[in-house]
Amino acid sequence: MGRLAQTEGLTEIQREILATVRSFVDKEILPVATELEHKDEYPTEIVEGLKDLGIFGLMIPEEYGGLGESLLTYALCVEEIARGWMSVSGIINTHFIVAYMLQQHGTPEQKDHFLPKMATGEIRGAFSMSEPALGSDVSAISSTGVRAPDGSGDFLLTGQKMWLTNGGSSTLVAVLCRTDEGHPEGTAPHKSMTTFLVAKTPGFGEVRPGLTIPGKIDKMGYKGVDTTELIMDELRVPADRVLGGNTGRGFYQMMDGVEVGRVNVAARGCGVAQRAFELGIDYAQQRHTFGKPIAQHQAIQFKLAEMATKVEAAHALMVGAARKKDSGQRNDLEAGMAKYLASEYCKEVVEDSFRIHGGYGFSKEYEIERLYREAPMLLIGEGTAEIQKMIVGRRLLEEYRSQD
Ligand SMILES: Cc1cc2nc3c(=O)[nH]c(=O)nc-3n(C[C@H](O)[C@H](O)[C@H](O)COP(=O)(O)OP(=O)(O)OC[C@H]3O[C@@H](n4cnc5c(N)ncnc54)[C@H](O)[C@@H]3O)c2cc1C
Repeated sequence: MGRLAQTEGLTEIQREILATVRSFVDKEILPVATELEHKDEYPTEIVEGLKDLGIFGLMIPEEYGGLGESLLTYALCVEEIARGWMSVSGIINTHFIVAYMLQQHGTPEQKDHFLPKMATGEIRGAFSMSEPALGSDVSAISSTGVRAPDGSGDFLLTGQKMWLTNGGSSTLVAVLCRTDEGHPEGTAPHKSMTTFLVAKTPGFGEVRPGLTIPGKIDKMGYKGVDTTELIMDELRVPADRVLGGNTGRGFYQMMDGVEVGRVNVAARGCGVAQRAFELGIDYAQQRHTFGKPIAQHQAIQFKLAEMATKVEAAHALMVGAARKKDSGQRNDLEAGMAKYLASEYCKEVVEDSFRIHGGYGFSKEYEIERLYREAPMLLIGEGTAEIQKMIVGRRLLEEYRSQD
């Protein structure tokens, strides 16, 4: 382990968990990641290994069979896993967000029903806000949930969702829909949304009456993990599968979920940047030009120095954002900053490492080629850079309100 991205003040247990995950990444993920990624193959064995390590239940409270660990522990594990292969961190990220939303907002029955099986990875979560016509502007959602006319109290969901990470492999999807019931005309759009807990079988096609998961979207990177659309045609969902029991809370529940998801995406950026740095500093000492290793040319040393500084800064901000949430404080400002900085720096560090590799960086034989296609996703997922800056800017204006 190098000296970068160290975290002060960890407990013995946290250090043990991280050492175990790092060793798993070095032995089980890094040796196969690039090959699986090129084949766009789902990493089944890796996922089984992570289940055995308890990663799917890392933050789920012990009373539900999880490890009851903090957001910081979780984020540091995500950083390690993304260092091995970002797609694997994507497989656990949506699961983690849904488990967190259930913990925070679920009814006692919903928690008892879902969380124990989520802790083992038997139930696997995905979350769905985005639609073909919107991603940033969540308040414009057009998928609807209306009461069934048969008086059962069930809801019928109709609409098309887009960009569903783990859409095929998951068995529980938290779906955000518009439900106008009980809300007077003119209610703000974000106050008439509801999160539905939709159980389904894994796979593609009609996975449940009224619910179709078409095939995987073909992506430039972030392969292996399945990203899909989701089509609902009067999908029947019982009333007790409204998250928290009451309609109209969905927007807030989802925003709470993506807030912790942002720390997670920041952690992914840190992990990918670390790996890019490792590859770059190694290659720079192997490759010779003009009679010496390129690492001895000052221009390359400067690049390495800049890359390492970015790795350190992103890690520090990510750790600060996680610790703020763990202390029970609102962390939207810190999470927004961490997500923004880590994803931008990740892209820059990957680009520098790519340049250090010269022509070989363009070859699929070199790992940096995969990282180069993976880093851009972090600029988009869990809110683009512009959206992070909007969140940060608004919060700053609240904090630094002018007195006159
Ligand atoms: C691989 C992948 C996986 C994903 N997984 C999921 C998932 O699991 N669940 C899910 O719900 N979604 C998921 N998403 C969707 C993701 O959250 C959205 O793509 C993202 O929020 C951006 O939305 P958009 O693509 O509609 O872009 P748009 O919202 O159309 O934005 C386009 C551009 O305009 C900018 N922009 C938008 N509004 C403003 C504004 N007010 N001011 C300034 N600039 C603005 C944006 O920053 C961006 O540059 C995933 C996306 C990808 C690519």
